[in-house]
Amino acid sequence: MAYFPLSNEQQSWLERAESIATEVLAPHAAQVDREAAFPTQQLDALREAGLFGLRVDKDHGGQGEGLLTFALVTEALARACPSTALIYKMHLESIELVSRDPTPEQAERVVPRLASGEWLSTVAGSESGHQGGAWAGAPKAQVHQVKGGYEVRNIRKAFVTAAGIADTYFFMCSLEKEGEKPQPLTFQIQSDDLDWTIDEPWDGLGMRGNQSSPMTFNGFIPEARRVGANGAGLFGVLPVVLGSYAAVYLGVAGGCYDLLHNHIKETTLADGRPMGEVETIQRSMATLSVELERSRALLQSVCAAFDAGREPPPRVFFEAKVACDELATVVTSEAMTLGGGTAFAKRLPFERYFRDARAGMVMGIAHDIALINIGKAMFPRPKNDKRKDRKPGSDKQDRKS
Ligand SMILES: Cc1cc2nc3c(=O)[nH]c(=O)nc-3n(C[C@H](O)[C@H](O)[C@H](O)COP(=O)(O)OP(=O)(O)OC[C@H]3O[C@@H](n4cnc5c(N)ncnc54)[C@H](O)[C@@H]3O)c2cc1C
Repeated sequence: MAYFPLSNEQQSWLERAESIATEVLAPHAAQVDREAAFPTQQLDALREAGLFGLRVDKDHGGQGEGLLTFALVTEALARACPSTALIYKMHLESIELVSRDPTPEQAERVVPRLASGEWLSTVAGSESGHQGGAWAGAPKAQVHQVKGGYEVRNIRKAFVTAAGIADTYFFMCSLEKEGEKPQPLTFQIQSDDLDWTIDEPWDGLGMRGNQSSPMTFNGFIPEARRVGANGAGLFGVLPVVLGSYAAVYLGVAGGCYDLLHNHIKETTLADGRPMGEVETIQRSMATLSVELERSRALLQSVCAAFDAGREPPPRVFFEAKVACDELATVVTSEAMTLGGGTAFAKRLPFERYFRDARAGMVMGIAHDIALINIGKAMFPRPKNDKRKDRKPGSDKQDRKS
């Protein structure tokens, strides 16, 4: 139930997404998970419905919708099939910068293909080494500037959704110039721009249809593939990245909650009582319902504030992501308890959502890093503070102990 006041346009996108979720995604969700099958047919349905260009300007062949519509659609898809919703979210996240700030050549040749879904896109950002996710801010592997572009030598991305299947990659790296801090660089590369290998098959605990394998890239990226060079910064994309992560995990929670609710309505305990009449169970479900509505209200209101140009600070998007990824773990864990041994034996669908929910805690910006960002915004350092981050062992007290 969406209590947030929606425009006719938003309501109509939501209904379109719900209908695809019910008719195309839900019937195959268990098979996608069981066989770790990439959901090609499901993505085709999203493409045909015009959802690939949801946030791209109408001038560039998209639908020109706001972040709230993106959140509504993504939640609806994730309720039915979290793997499909995450691939879809990665496509929109990865094309946000190029569609906001394209060069004339990208506006003509690249963005319309991304908006129509002729090209599927994804993010090649995360690297291993405790970076806390693609968007957590740690410097990425370096490229080397050469005539006409950049040379890529053995850059390994630890997780790339739709690895090897995507037609374009939002490729995050950095450029080091002598005596300067590494400068973040981003590109919208085409699949055949670089040589790449898929280094391991994807066999995730959850989100099993995503093909989120590690990839290694080598070769040359032409300057024309650069995005963000005109001034649009990575920082400006963060609300879209975080808001859509929140929507995926809100959907995981909501989908599991609905199934649990139905299960309880239809189940009778061994002592003859309908499960839904047991007060402790009513209390558990009421608590989950409050948590769900609370998280959804937070997410939808920050998205609406963003769409209205009120420029909500990044902190509230971190809060929405934290609320929704935690919510998904709480709801799915309670479903595993209330579903009893039957859920544990995988005869109920809760365990699939339970496994999918775990990804929310580690991805995009890992849950812990999101919390650290909220904390830092609460206690900002004074602007003129020249201290470096304190490392353990760096002061006398540490050395004594
Ligand atoms: C299903 C799935 C799909 C994905 N798809 C993509 C994709 O398409 N593109 C992409 O770029 N990435 C993708 N990722 C990667 C994802 O965004 C994260 O980078 C990744 O999950 C983090 O894993 P890691 O092992 O590198 O964690 P690490 O960075 O090693 O972090 C592990 C834990 O260490 C702690 N930690 C790490 N750094 C800090 C710190 N600075 N301060 C305090 N604590 C810290 C946190 O508790 C964190 O959870 C995907 C991941 C998953 C699971």
